[in-house]
Amino acid sequence: MKRGDVTVDGDKNTWRFKAKYVPDFAFAASDHYLWDATNVVVDSLTSRRVVVAAAYKRESEDFYEVTEIGKKVIEYLSKELPGVPFPYPEITVFNGSGGMEYPMMVNDGSSSRRSSTVHVAFHEITHTYFPFYMGINERKYGWMDEGWAVMIPFEIQSRLEPSYDPITRIVDRYSNSAGRELDVPVMIPRIVFSGNVYRPSLRGATYQRPSIAYHFLRDFLGEKLFRKALKEFISRWNGKHPIPYDFFFTFNDVAKEDLGRFWKPWFFEPGYPGCQRGCR
Ligand SMILES: [Zn+2]
Repeated sequence: MKRGDVTVDGDKNTWRFKAKYVPDFAFAASDHYLWDATNVVVDSLTSRRVVVAAAYKRESEDFYEVTEIGKKVIEYLSKELPGVPFPYPEITVFNGSGGMEYPMMVNDGSSSRRSSTVHVAFHEITHTYFPFYMGINERKYGWMDEGWAVMIPFEIQSRLEPSYDPITRIVDRYSNSAGRELDVPVMIPRIVFSGNVYRPSLRGATYQRPSIAYHFLRDFLGEKLFRKALKEFISRWNGKHPIPYDFFFTFNDVAKEDLGRFWKPWFFEPGYPGCQRGCR
């Protein structure tokens, strides 16, 4: 870094990285980003710690808090919901644009709204458990990944940023398509929606409807059973590439009940939740 030759073109530039259990990778380089880091115990039995870092532009004012937010994300995921210790030794929130997840790194844009900073940090880091720890094919079964990355942080996002109500936000968005022509069954593989032609259907079937379904499932099963089933699903299928039926059957197994009457309308049919008088 001091010699200024890290990113200079050479005949050959070689960097070596080592990581276990990563199905994908990304890396970033900068000679002027700020870099904060802290760490947090994720497993009280083994005292295992995870390094939480943020690398960001000096002018990204919200990022000065991102390491602390990231620490709360890792604590929540490890100890509350899903309650599975964060599986990797590190996580770095890199200040790029938009939001995208990778093993041990997320790429997040900066925002002037704190609610957005909290939202994107939580959402992207939550992805860790699904395509990476479990090996879910998110290209095909996007709802088994995005749906959870939307739903799991619901409660903690508003705890960390009281002005933010993620449940109302997602219900409002889904209300625009629920029960209409473009509201398609969640089980239709995501690859069918390639390109942007059916974007409203893609958002509805991948993010909105499944996250609301998981939220209703939590209410339907009760807090204790829901947590037990989700934790079991994630742990049992670690690295085994579960498909939708593995999800349904694991929850049936833990609940000791055939939950088909819940799965069928929410995931296989064009069903949508009814609206009582007074709701929007
Ligand atoms: Zn996502």
